[in-house]
Amino acid sequence: MTAARPALDVAVVGAGPAGLAAAYALAEAGCTVRVLEAADAVGGRMRTVREHGCLIDTGAEMFPGRAGYPATWRLITALKLDRDPDAVPNVRDAVAVWRDGRPRPHVGRPLGLLTGAGLGLRARVDLVRLQARLARLGDLDPARPEASALGAQTVADLVRPYHRDLHDYLVGPLACGFFGWDPERSAAAPLAAHLASCGSSASWHTYRDGMDTLARALADRLDVTTGHPVTRVTGDDGLVRLESPRGTVTARAAVLAVPAPVAARLYADEREAVRTFLDECGYTPMLRVSLVLDEPLAPGGAHASFATLIPADADRLLGVITADHRKHPGRAPDGGGLVSLIASPRGAAELLGLPDRTVAERLIARGERFVPGLAAHVAHARVHRFEHGLPEATPRALRLRGAFARRSVAAVEYAGDWAMLRPCSEGAVASAALAAERILAYLAAAPDSQDSPDSPAGAAPARPAAMSAPVEARASDPRPDDQR
Ligand SMILES: Cc1cc2nc3c(=O)[nH]c(=O)nc-3n(C[C@H](O)[C@H](O)[C@H](O)COP(=O)(O)OP(=O)(O)OC[C@H]3O[C@@H](n4cnc5c(N)ncnc54)[C@H](O)[C@@H]3O)c2cc1C
Repeated sequence: MTAARPALDVAVVGAGPAGLAAAYALAEAGCTVRVLEAADAVGGRMRTVREHGCLIDTGAEMFPGRAGYPATWRLITALKLDRDPDAVPNVRDAVAVWRDGRPRPHVGRPLGLLTGAGLGLRARVDLVRLQARLARLGDLDPARPEASALGAQTVADLVRPYHRDLHDYLVGPLACGFFGWDPERSAAAPLAAHLASCGSSASWHTYRDGMDTLARALADRLDVTTGHPVTRVTGDDGLVRLESPRGTVTARAAVLAVPAPVAARLYADEREAVRTFLDECGYTPMLRVSLVLDEPLAPGGAHASFATLIPADADRLLGVITADHRKHPGRAPDGGGLVSLIASPRGAAELLGLPDRTVAERLIARGERFVPGLAAHVAHARVHRFEHGLPEATPRALRLRGAFARRSVAAVEYAGDWAMLRPCSEGAVASAALAAERILAYLAAAPDSQDSPDSPAGAAPARPAAMSAPVEARASDPRPDDQR
């Protein structure tokens, strides 16, 4: 017997970029959708808080141009966020690396090959050799990192044949600082594919009004309930039940757009390929201290880059220092400053369980070396903790991803940066497009979609315009098992 049809076609758990992008795609296709978010605001790890006259980006900082983040930019354009070009400004002098007592600018851009960007001449020649080798491979696709011939190589394996500086002052600090990855443990292919697709750091952008701009714009167009933690998801008889202390929501299908360990806790997926992949998706915790300053201090003073990578030999607890007032002047009041101290993976593991005050004191003490006088100019400090900071792509997770991507469609789908093994907002948005397509395929094939008057756009809901460009070379057959 089939249960009574619920009012909702799809319930989405999590209002980070993945959940909101999936919900938007499904709503555009004619589905009735509700997003259930545990926190009191949307954005997830891309949230911005507004206090002390500052826009404080708690997690994500910036993103590259259209070629690097195509799924994100398709949404930006669909929502008309780029109608005002000043709303999505370029970040000037995005990245530097600390070496021999000062920041070396122009990391990740062709200009750096001339100026050095922390690398000696031989290391720069080796960087060009490495880039040529990766270009010759021709198989680096951030949507399918498991398909690369780099296979099980780790990041450290990839750079081992080259000058040591490449590891110490470029690839290692980038992997630790931006991905939270240990180069010895994490797979090379997803990082190489990400860096190759993102191109020059001279093309990177931010949102003038905070990194949560996209999340807020999506949420404005959707049915979102905040303060609604989902504690258990079950499904049978064509109904998915999502339990919460706030009450149970039922829907025909669900998207779990939460970190992999949370998804595994919420729903007992019986499919082997799903369970093994979820179990292998580990995370690095992330810890950031935002400092509101009464002066615009930064590593390197007035000519500072936005983000300065701190190599392990310069400090083992600090990974990146960002001068947010350099990212965009609107981040801090005139004459003031906003600086973030982001712990290294090792620092985050060591400090995560300590009280805010201790975390702030320890990181500020470390920061003094890079920003002299810092402690004396701190007006406010705020600690942001992410237990599930950034998903790690081990060689084993990479190996398991193919089977996960080829799983049959089902009533409960998944979205999130982890699903692409790409710890960035583009990974989240790209995964959302795939999840939405899979849910639409499921709903179109579900028994009651053929005869129901309020079926979304009939048996096969339309594919939304914002998602209509291909986001991933199709590795999976989106039909349920019984349709093949
Ligand atoms: C410090 C830091 C810096 C970063 N910098 C960048 C950057 O510069 N550029 C970039 O592109 N990316 C960056 N990222 C990564 C980016 O923020 C993430 O890739 C992106 O936010 C992932 O989106 P998501 O929707 O998959 O997950 P999330 O953003 O984590 O969203 C998941 C949501 O689910 C909610 N949730 C969890 N459990 C439940 C539950 N049981 N019930 C209901 N809701 C639940 C959470 O509250 C959250 O809102 C950074 C991340 C961090 C931590």
